[in-house]
Amino acid sequence: MKLLEDRIRKDGRAINADILKVDTFINHQVDPALMLECAKDFAEHFKGQGVTKVATIESSGIAPALLTSIEMGVPLVILKKQPSKVLNDDLYQTMVTSFTKGTNYELTLSRKVIDEKDHVLLIDDFLANGEAATGAVRLVRMAHATVAGVGVLIEKSFQPGNKKLTEAGFEVYSLAKIKSMSEGTIEFV
Ligand code: 5GP
Repeated sequence: MKLLEDRIRKDGRAINADILKVDTFINHQVDPALMLECAKDFAEHFKGQGVTKVATIESSGIAPALLTSIEMGVPLVILKKQPSKVLNDDLYQTMVTSFTKGTNYELTLSRKVIDEKDHVLLIDDFLANGEAATGAVRLVRMAHATVAGVGVLIEKSFQPGNKKLTEAGFEVYSLAKIKSMSEGTIEFV
C-alpha cells in the first residue's frame, strides 16, 4: 500500500537492522486517517470470506483492528497480555515470546468471546518472527474457531513470520513489506 510505504519512508525510523520505530503515526501517536485507509484495505481484501470477528493483540494492533472491525461490521476481540494465573476455567492461555522485549508473556482469551461458530481475522501492527500471530492462532483454535487470515500493517520480510504462517496454511496479507533495514535506511520488497 503506497500510502503506508510513503509514510514509513517519511516518518519511520530504523533504529538498527531489526527494529523499526513508527511511534509518531502507528503505536504511540496514531494517525487515524492513515489507519482508516489501512482498515479499508484489510476489509476489502477479506470481504466475502465469512469473517465473524476481528482479533488483535493489545496494545499496538488495536487502532487498525478496531477500524477494520467497523469496516467489516463485526466485533473486535482484544487478546490480553497478562501474567500466568493459576488454572482458570474461563480463559484460554498460551505463552508468547515478545519480539521487542525478548521476554515471554501469557496471551489470554476469555471463553465468552470466541467460540466454534467464529471465523476470525487477525490484525496486528508488525509481523516479525510470527510469535504473536501464531500465539493468537493457537488461542483461536483452543476456542474451536477458525482463522480467516492474518493482516499486518508492516511485515519485515527478512524475518521468518510470513514463512512460518504461510507454511502453516494461513493467508498473510501485509500492507507494507520491508526487504531490509539498517540504521537510517529502509528498503521495501
Ligand atoms: P513477532 O511476534 O511477529 O515476532 O512480532 C510481532 C510483535 O512485535 C508486534 O505485535 C509488534 O508489537 C512487535 N514488533 C515486532 N517488530 C517490531 C518493530 O520493528 N517495531 C515495533 N515498534 N514493534 C515490533
